[in-house]
Amino acid sequence: MNAPASPSPVPSPIKGEGQLALLSVLDASVVFTARKGLFAAARVRALDGVSLHLDKGESLSVVGESGSGKTTLARVVLGLQRPAQGQVAYEGKDIGRASEGQLKEFRRRAQGIFQDPFSSLDPYMTVGQIVEEPLVIHHVGSPAQRVDKVRQALEEVRLTPVSEIAPKFTHQLSGGQRQRVAIARALVLEPELIVADEPVSMVDASSRAEILYLMRELQERHGTAFLYITHDIATAYHFSQRIAVMYLGRIVETGPTRQVIGNPLHPYTQALLQAVPEPDPANRFRRRGMLAGEPPSPANPPAGCRFHPRCPYAFEGCDRDDPHLLEVTQGQEAACRLWKGLTAGARLTERAPGSAGEGDDRKPPS
Ligand code: SF4
Repeated sequence: MNAPASPSPVPSPIKGEGQLALLSVLDASVVFTARKGLFAAARVRALDGVSLHLDKGESLSVVGESGSGKTTLARVVLGLQRPAQGQVAYEGKDIGRASEGQLKEFRRRAQGIFQDPFSSLDPYMTVGQIVEEPLVIHHVGSPAQRVDKVRQALEEVRLTPVSEIAPKFTHQLSGGQRQRVAIARALVLEPELIVADEPVSMVDASSRAEILYLMRELQERHGTAFLYITHDIATAYHFSQRIAVMYLGRIVETGPTRQVIGNPLHPYTQALLQAVPEPDPANRFRRRGMLAGEPPSPANPPAGCRFHPRCPYAFEGCDRDDPHLLEVTQGQEAACRLWKGLTAGARLTERAPGSAGEGDDRKPPS
């Protein structure tokens, strides 16, 4: 029988010293019903008690494999999906209870950039019309002022000369240029928050770094907060100040990016890092390790720690006890039983599966 999980504390949108976070996701869960054969249906918990916050001007990366719930989280944050439980608060106000007018204002202040620039942009509109459309929807400026704002936005994303690019249709552009149009469209309203969901995963390799640098530059120049959703922990390192690692609908590690990447506390974070290809003169790239197996189905997550079937450190009780996030070192939290009662300053050292039991020498070497 599973040990009952102790409830994890639900954070408040009010941070220390009464300061409000720009965005707070508070204990959010999303459940989908998926068809299973002709008659049966399965309940899939795509998000399970996720909490995070983002301050003004801050960048936070959410990292995980496909199926970890990252895109559902992006949709919840943008108000495109209502959580079954929990809430999303913008400057402390629950967007699930917002009036039509407040929701429209929220949509002006929080913009999304999506994975597929092919389907997210209207093929029958010119680039100029696509970038102008949010200004028209939100009644911003006169026609002449809007033309000026569109020109500025296209220049900011380096789609120049504007007079040549603005009249084009998106099928006349490369994948990288299309994603720049999507960024210009998100920027033109001068939002406080941009949620970028895998913005470079469908862009050719030569444009990826350019687009990431461009987003970072814009974030620094305008002080826009960014929620960057990615499967690629290496890009998160270059892009964000803080990181949250997701596995099967939950956050399993979070903290300052350099701290988490320099000393990952959760075995899943460690495995993601080991799978990042490194330059190798002999083979062009090599990986230090691969993540074993596929993620289990979110419709039927494993009992105990959800990572235990793939975890090289799993020990007695990991298949029963469900760990919650625990602050191990200042600002860095991990949901792993290895850290119960241990202090930080240690690194994980891989052990043979099943070679250690609870209460034995779990302490990793310092
Ligand atoms: Fe691995 Fe156990 Fe930690 Fe889960 S709780 S990540 S199975 S060591």
